[in-house]
Amino acid sequence: MQSHGEKPNEYSFGSIVKMCASLALLLRGEQIHGCTVKTGFDLYVYVVNGVLDMYAKCKRIFEAEYIFRTMSGEKNNVTWTSMLTGYAKNGFAYKAIECFRDLRREGNESNHFTFPSVLTACGTVSARKVGVQVHGCIVKSGFIENIFVQSSLIAMYAKCRDMEAARVLLRGMDVDDEVSLNSMIVECVRQGLEDEALSLFGRMHERGLKIDEFTIPSVLNCFALSRREMNIACSVHCLMVKTGYGNYKLVNNALVDMYAKRGLMDSALKVFEEMIVKDVISWTALVTGNTHNGSYEEALKLFCDMRGEGISPDQIVTASVLSASAELTLLEFGKQVHGNYIKSGFPSSLSVDNSLVTMYTKCGSLEDANVVFNSMENRDLITWTALIVGYAKNGKAKDSLQSYNLMIGSGIKPDYITFIGLLFACSHAGLIEEAQHYFDSMRTVYGISPGPEHYACMIDLFGRSGDFVRVEELLIQMEVEPDATVWKAILAASRKHGNIENGERAAKTLMELEPNNAVPYVLLSNMYSAAGRQEEAANVRRLMKSRNISKEPGCSWVEGKGKVHSFMSEDRRHPRMVEIYSKVEEMMLLIKGVGYLPDMSFALQDLDKESKELGLAYHSEKLAVAFGLLAIPAGAPIRIIKNLRVCGDCHNAMKYISKVYLRHIILRDSNCFHHFRDGNCSCGDYW
Ligand SMILES: [Zn+2]
Ligand SMILES: [Zn+2]
Repeated sequence: MQSHGEKPNEYSFGSIVKMCASLALLLRGEQIHGCTVKTGFDLYVYVVNGVLDMYAKCKRIFEAEYIFRTMSGEKNNVTWTSMLTGYAKNGFAYKAIECFRDLRREGNESNHFTFPSVLTACGTVSARKVGVQVHGCIVKSGFIENIFVQSSLIAMYAKCRDMEAARVLLRGMDVDDEVSLNSMIVECVRQGLEDEALSLFGRMHERGLKIDEFTIPSVLNCFALSRREMNIACSVHCLMVKTGYGNYKLVNNALVDMYAKRGLMDSALKVFEEMIVKDVISWTALVTGNTHNGSYEEALKLFCDMRGEGISPDQIVTASVLSASAELTLLEFGKQVHGNYIKSGFPSSLSVDNSLVTMYTKCGSLEDANVVFNSMENRDLITWTALIVGYAKNGKAKDSLQSYNLMIGSGIKPDYITFIGLLFACSHAGLIEEAQHYFDSMRTVYGISPGPEHYACMIDLFGRSGDFVRVEELLIQMEVEPDATVWKAILAASRKHGNIENGERAAKTLMELEPNNAVPYVLLSNMYSAAGRQEEAANVRRLMKSRNISKEPGCSWVEGKGKVHSFMSEDRRHPRMVEIYSKVEEMMLLIKGVGYLPDMSFALQDLDKESKELGLAYHSEKLAVAFGLLAIPAGAPIRIIKNLRVCGDCHNAMKYISKVYLRHIILRDSNCFHHFRDGNCSCGDYW
């Protein structure tokens, strides 16, 4: 038109700019705005309204505001409504509310466009009081019959958590309004009213109303978080496919999340694999689900696949995969995740930092844990507890207690788990008085009743010093039934002090509590034989055999050159087996030269002396350390993980090995960490 030399008038400007608004064509819109200024048409209210609306719809709210403020002509209803709606739709709720007030003050009429906009704003910021006033205006101005206005009112009340008002309005509606029902369902789920959400959902389904793509994820969340029956969830899934939502990413993400949270990993994986477009949320749901269900290897594998697809991990998936590495004690992997996270440029979050502190302490790397801890701006109970437990498990009782004091000093109150760490630290360092003090403060200061874990630490502490009277007192004092950890502590103490009477009782109770555990049989038999009661020792071993109970085989892992190598006792499967066995021979020779004596009480009985000694030498942790000496460069620590507690003989040998080979050996057994350095162990020979 312009190229034909014809001049556009205010109506053609108005309609063209309107088109730009509805198509969100900002650049074109700006050009036309320029033309209107040049031609003076920007004085016509019809044109200005169009330009204002164009900027608001293109998310340029400040430009819209500028035009609104500086316009020379009279603002009409449309001007006000465009500005108000612009504010509401762009998330400026308070400005929208203010705009509504100005509009009323200037004596303008509101209509079925202004009311819903201001109500949306009220809902966004939970301004119920303003919402009620708007409701009053609506009634007065006769717009209450309008269905848009009604459904906005319902959404406003629901978002302001006034469900009763929302319900009354919903019941009063003449027709079943899809918009209102959808928004009610979403809000019910958000507020934990799952039954109501599901019943509304059922009603919509029965009457054939259209359920939108935002409502289905909400409904699926009902099943993710509760113990509700899964067959209903599956029918929701079917319905979803039937109604054509099968390809919606939002919907599928919610499905993956629901199945994963309920532990149905196969179904989660199936939905996931059928998704055409996957984003970080889809992957996160699957990774987190695996971590949550204890499938840590699978979680790590998926995480690697996700990276392979070029998707950058977010904070949630990072925290989750760090937890999985911590459980598997994969320090190298955890470090890589940490490094990548820093590189990704994501701002750090409390949950990621907490997972990092936990991962490093669980992998026995307190230095790294400290670096993260010190870099944190905010710390919460989880952060401090991770550090307190971490120090305790790594044989650093003093640091553990010191961190506890610092935590209390910073105003954070301890919880059940904090006290497990604290008492564990005390029991391993033999700090009877401190332990008693903390144990008492649990109830008197913090109102936490001690659980079996806390009693086990206390019993362990008294039992180790041979104070069986106090052990008995504690047993009587317990409000909860003593569990296996408590009896294990008693058994270990009885063995140490040769207290056969208590040992028998603890062993027999343990045999009932954990019928497949070989430990009570082995320890009891050893106790009898140490006391010279060979026949009873043999009886226990026979009983163990007749009940088909066998010792869980000891297994040790060592991370070397990016691979995890595992060793069983007397294992001959490793490709470098010949080298490893000759290294063991060398080790034994060298440490014997500096005073190591094999402790036969840890060997299998019924063997002659020489076979016993050889058997000891090929325990899994000794094979692992020999491999470590061969494969891990000098100066780097050797990190070993063992499934059972380290045996006394290996523990002793490790001390000598650390001295002879000048190596830091870190051994995590089923109970705690042992840092062997220069002939000593961080556990102070108590574990
Ligand atoms: Zn051993
Ligand atoms: Zn130790």
